[in-house]
Amino acid sequence: MPRIITVCPTTGEDVPTGHRTQDLDIASMEGTRAFRCPVCKTVHNWSAQEARVEVGVPEAAHYRAALA
Ligand SMILES: [Zn+2]
Repeated sequence: MPRIITVCPTTGEDVPTGHRTQDLDIASMEGTRAFRCPVCKTVHNWSAQEARVEVGVPEAAHYRAALA
């Protein structure tokens, strides 16, 4: 299942929140959640507004192969 990604406010990098779409529905999530950032090792708060679902690279590669 795809990971839920947000942006680290310190480095600006995309980082995983530790949640996946099957255990958290960001469409109905309210407020913020805290997570320990794997890039800068501090705790950030993230909200659904700034989060997104990771695009699955293996699925995309498979899709391209199917078109070829
Ligand atoms: Zn960070």
